[in-house]
Amino acid sequence: MPDPAARRPADSQIEFIDLAAQRRRIGRRMDEAILRVVDHGKYIMGPEVADFEQELSAFCGAKHVLSCANGTDALGLALMVKNLKPGQAVLVPAFTFAATAEVVAWFDAVPVFVDVREDTFNMDSASLEAGVATARRSGLEPVGVIPVDLFGLPADCDEILAIASAHRLWVICDAAQSFGAVYKSRKIGTIGDITTTSFFPAKPLGCYGDGGAVFTGDDDAATLLKSLRVHGQGGDKYDNVRIGMNARLDTIQAAVLIEKLKIFPDEIAARERVAARYSALLEEKVTVPRVPPGLTSVWAQYTVRLPSGCDRDAVAARLKAMGVPTAVYYAKPLHQQTAYRHYPVAGNGLPVSDRIAGEVLSLPMHPYLDETVQDRIVSAIATILQ
Ligand SMILES: *Cc1c(COP(=O)(O)O)cnc(C)c1O
Repeated sequence: MPDPAARRPADSQIEFIDLAAQRRRIGRRMDEAILRVVDHGKYIMGPEVADFEQELSAFCGAKHVLSCANGTDALGLALMVKNLKPGQAVLVPAFTFAATAEVVAWFDAVPVFVDVREDTFNMDSASLEAGVATARRSGLEPVGVIPVDLFGLPADCDEILAIASAHRLWVICDAAQSFGAVYKSRKIGTIGDITTTSFFPAKPLGCYGDGGAVFTGDDDAATLLKSLRVHGQGGDKYDNVRIGMNARLDTIQAAVLIEKLKIFPDEIAARERVAARYSALLEEKVTVPRVPPGLTSVWAQYTVRLPSGCDRDAVAARLKAMGVPTAVYYAKPLHQQTAYRHYPVAGNGLPVSDRIAGEVLSLPMHPYLDETVQDRIVSAIATILQ
């Protein structure tokens, strides 16, 4: 009998992220892995959880890896380790997903928004310096910075770490989109005090639900994280020694991730091929994403900037009519969003975030995007922009 997961969809609808294609490749193995967990019944902290953590550690070289419930909790756990206090300031980029700033607000601390670079979409170090000064001028104590590796590309870690050390700030790397990438021969997970990631299904390494992980080289931080992940438990299971949370990764998700990690290097290579081909075919028509020398991206998104003055909504609508799905990451930088607009911004404002939010357009991106489909996407864009 044919593997039901191996059946191709009847129509040739272009997917923005084609998770079904991955299922056609490893669906049966995945289903078997899930069933093994269902059968052994250790749904919480079963053996697959520790196995997966060990494999993640081997993959990226981080000394300690703790899986957790999602990428937002991963950030929250990291901030608990840093003992973030009400009123303290944490520098975060404005052009990111809400979770990066949201977790700071959990602690009644103050996210201070920093601008990004228009060529990489990542934190701008000059704006970071300005943000530290802004925080101090506002009477806040800056204690940390959370750079984000947007769309899968590592942030300018050397520059950010140097600024952080000059101002005695801790660094938590939000690598929710970049697990698997490399920064100057250092793998993501080994940079900064603590790194966090997400296994949300649409991330480059995604599970079948929510999942996340925290990476650190610090033994004390790892011990603390282990306790915080399970309600602040101590050596005695009935004596909780600190306030923690319930942030465990489900065993079933660990089993899924073990299977997906096996093909992850191959998928990263495929993503790189798709991105390189997009860039070669599109660089005359739009501003294509730049990868600085010595860095690799895992291409969580392939995001271009449309020529200024171009009506993005109209372009996206025409692409949709031609069967090409797109997305806008991010239409509104955080400092313009309702829940965040009362927080301080670095210096005199964030002109790059404000501008690029109106220009960015993310194209279909996944490891199984074949050249025929990619040619359809590229020619649709060429037709519309000519
Ligand atoms: C997805 C994401 C998160 C949150 O991860 P979840 O697993 O969805 O909680 C945090 N930061 C960034 C930059 C993200 O893209």
